[in-house]
Amino acid sequence: MQEATFKTDVVVVGGGLAGIVAAYELLEKNKKVILIDRDVPERFGGLAKESFGGMFFVNTPQQRFSGFKDSTELAMKDWQSYAGFNDNDKWPVLWAEQYINLCKDEVYRWLRKRGVGFFPIVHWVERGREHPGNSVPRFHMVWGTGHGLVKTLVNRLTNHSNNAGLTRLFRHKATDIEVSNGYVSGVSGVCEPDGSVFRIDSECVIVATGGIGGSIQKVKENWDSELGTPPEVILNGSHQFATGELHDVVKNTLDAEVTHLDTMWLYAAGVHHHRPQRPNHGLSLIPPKSAMWFNASGERFMPPLISGFDTRYLVRRICQQQEQYSWQVLNMKIAVKEFAVSGSEHNAAIRNKNIFQFLNSTLFGNKALVEEFITENSDFVVASTIEELVVKMNNLTGNELIDGDKFAKAILAYDAKIETGDIHGDEQLEKINYLRQYRGDRIRTCNYQKIWDKKALPLIAIREFILSRKSLGGILTDLDCRVLTKTAYIPGLYAIGEAAGFGGGGMHGLRSLEGTFLGGCVLNGRLAAKAIIKG
Ligand SMILES: Cc1cc2nc3c(=O)[nH]c(=O)nc-3n(C[C@H](O)[C@H](O)[C@H](O)COP(=O)(O)OP(=O)(O)OC[C@H]3O[C@@H](n4cnc5c(N)ncnc54)[C@H](O)[C@@H]3O)c2cc1C
Repeated sequence: MQEATFKTDVVVVGGGLAGIVAAYELLEKNKKVILIDRDVPERFGGLAKESFGGMFFVNTPQQRFSGFKDSTELAMKDWQSYAGFNDNDKWPVLWAEQYINLCKDEVYRWLRKRGVGFFPIVHWVERGREHPGNSVPRFHMVWGTGHGLVKTLVNRLTNHSNNAGLTRLFRHKATDIEVSNGYVSGVSGVCEPDGSVFRIDSECVIVATGGIGGSIQKVKENWDSELGTPPEVILNGSHQFATGELHDVVKNTLDAEVTHLDTMWLYAAGVHHHRPQRPNHGLSLIPPKSAMWFNASGERFMPPLISGFDTRYLVRRICQQQEQYSWQVLNMKIAVKEFAVSGSEHNAAIRNKNIFQFLNSTLFGNKALVEEFITENSDFVVASTIEELVVKMNNLTGNELIDGDKFAKAILAYDAKIETGDIHGDEQLEKINYLRQYRGDRIRTCNYQKIWDKKALPLIAIREFILSRKSLGGILTDLDCRVLTKTAYIPGLYAIGEAAGFGGGGMHGLRSLEGTFLGGCVLNGRLAAKAIIKG
């Protein structure tokens, strides 16, 4: 079959958020761009289109409206504490500083100007447990979720006055980066529907292919030993084509540095998707705070696990167990108020910008969502007694791991604490008390709800697996997104977004303060384009 050839100024490999932003900024300066993606046109936008749409910003009007004062100094202190950088992390540290210093002007304001709106109330996530995290709320929700974010930017791209300079090629997989005389000279690859090959000649190539979380094999191979051994079952919460193949190409053929691949932002509460769009597709639940968290044997985690403080800690605690999955146990009353799923798919009110539906679900809960999961999702069981719940949990796993007596005792002891009104000594109840002091959390957290409560039936148990999501490490880049070898940069080659560990091969260090991924992609895309234009 004959090779198809193209010529352009810049090739962007990957049509996720990072790639879209870079292409848009290049069009602004009248550059000719070819954007290629392995996926189908309907999924243009990559993971961002499926995302929740939370973005980390510093010192915004929304934070002030929520009653908080923030500053770049405070944010840097929190980021450093959470990241746990080491002495060799030169570029990650510089990138963290760059993100914090630029996120308000170059991401928040830039998006606002292009028609992206944010909620007035900011979420307060990743407050830290063993290491202090966000000392103020910084998770700004896009009105429209990630779906709306991508829609707005894709509209901007499509209707750009220089749009004639943009060619989009879907179902095109880049397999190699071409180099001549030490300079990047283009990309070659395969057109997947028919196996034909293509080559694109260009002076610059931007790698925006996402992380490695879409390959569970790679996730396991690069597993962080601090988390113990990798669980047998890891659900895929990433992009099916985020498999790191171009990471290998730049490393093996161009000597680029790829760093920190063992640092991953995994989630603790993954369930099988009941309408999977890819193999092993998982959903990440936002773990209900009033649910009790048990290991596979039905023993309550002690100290108790509760979300909102340190995601890495939750993952580590679960991975340290012999059976590396867990159960959350709650009842209908808790579920209606607290149950939520990360992503645009299960947040229809926000995705569709339906203020009435949003207020209704915030005030009265989302019973329809709970019903959907109870009836359709294979990781959910319901019962009207604790005994019946245990039987169903054991049936689901096909073993008799859960000791019904111990399990019931733990639930009744927790409930008794609530009944006496003395919450001290139970870390979960103390944390609920602390969380409820912030109105953003109070509205979504029950006021000390017992598990065994006849008025709150049925009981619900959710079997939860570790889920792969974001790669915190990636291709090493400088502050202009140029790809680095050990000693120099590779002329003409750029890496952005998750492919670059969101900047510098891992700007987060070990942990993310959350919302830094979407924000990181926008900043990376913009800076790469700026550097290319500067020449
Ligand atoms: C459900 C969900 C909720 C999330 N919520 C949030 C949130 O609230 N806040 C936040 O900050 N982050 C969130 N994220 C994470 C965030 O969406 C991603 O980290 C980010 O969108 C990654 O963007 P990217 O452009 O770097 O890569 P991707 O979106 O992964 O895009 C990479 C693209 O490259 C293509 N590609 C890969 N290899 C090749 C190749 N060889 N040739 C051609 N094309 C290739 C892929 O097809 C894909 O389209 C969420 C993610 C998910 C899944």
